[in-house]
Amino acid sequence: MTSCERCAGGVPKSGDIADLYEFEMDSPSLVYHDGILAGFARCKQCRQRYWAQSSDVVLNLLWHWTLLPVADTVESAGEAASSDWWVSLLEDARGGAHSLHPVRIQGPPPRTTARQRKAARGASRGR
Ligand SMILES: [Zn+2]
Repeated sequence: MTSCERCAGGVPKSGDIADLYEFEMDSPSLVYHDGILAGFARCKQCRQRYWAQSSDVVLNLLWHWTLLPVADTVESAGEAASSDWWVSLLEDARGGAHSLHPVRIQGPPPRTTARQRKAARGASRGR
């Protein structure tokens, strides 16, 4: 699986997430609440398919998207686990207009890192 410069090149662009990626709106995995929160999406240029998931950094102004490359056959988010690269994308609307900052990261996606697993275990122990 490969990415192109447009979807993972680290070059800032204007626009929102739907300008770069085409979401599979009819997929049962799509999570939608006042906008897309998570779903399968394809780069409009290179057609690489991703599982894309957003989280708020600043409510309604700044979002972080985690994009995991997935094969065309993957149909549920749980299958989008192992990859040796992923895309970290900031969608920034703090200045009014939306801009996108995608960066390809070499290494396992964040939710599979040892540090996060450790943090998650620590959090559940505290409850
Ligand atoms: Zn691409």
